[in-house]
Amino acid sequence: MSLLASIGYFTLGGCIGHVLPRFPYLLLSRNKGFNTRFPPHPEAIPLSPYLTQRVLHMRMFYWMGLIVVLLPLILGLLTVRWGDAAFGFGLWISSGWYLLNRIQSLFGGQTPPWTNKMALDLQIISNQAEQSDACCNWASPYWQVTGIVCVNCNSKLSKMPRPDLGRKRSERKPMGFFRLLLSDGYPMVSLPDEEE
Ligand SMILES: [Zn+2]
Repeated sequence: MSLLASIGYFTLGGCIGHVLPRFPYLLLSRNKGFNTRFPPHPEAIPLSPYLTQRVLHMRMFYWMGLIVVLLPLILGLLTVRWGDAAFGFGLWISSGWYLLNRIQSLFGGQTPPWTNKMALDLQIISNQAEQSDACCNWASPYWQVTGIVCVNCNSKLSKMPRPDLGRKRSERKPMGFFRLLLSDGYPMVSLPDEEE
């Protein structure tokens, strides 16, 4: 086989190994029926138990990848042994890298885009809005791209940027998919710390 074909197969294997374990959070929850409780994609989302639950679901989909990744890992090994070695190697490298990356986040470094703490924080802010020490009488916290804001009095309740929340994305078909692949679910903005 020519070198060019090998490189092509390697790249193809690499791409499949990259996308496959991300399928749960890329695909599950994207259809309309799953998102009737939320406004359409770029809009801010009101804090509610549904939102808290969605964060926990996204977290579950994220970790589900650890099971899905076994597929390209095993397939990669088999292909290196009995099939096209370049393809199998690409598959194996990228899924192995994925596995290392996820395991590393158990020990430190960047936290996953969706965490238990995030769900807890949302619930706390949501509860506070209903109590007497809320920012205003008709507090209604919304999660915008850069943080949680009360849309009634405009006070900023949290600086937690909004990750992808599994809604159908507003961009046209392949673009939304690529943006998700690039961002890996993390918030698209990283603002410099505001001076206070
Ligand atoms: Zn308010």
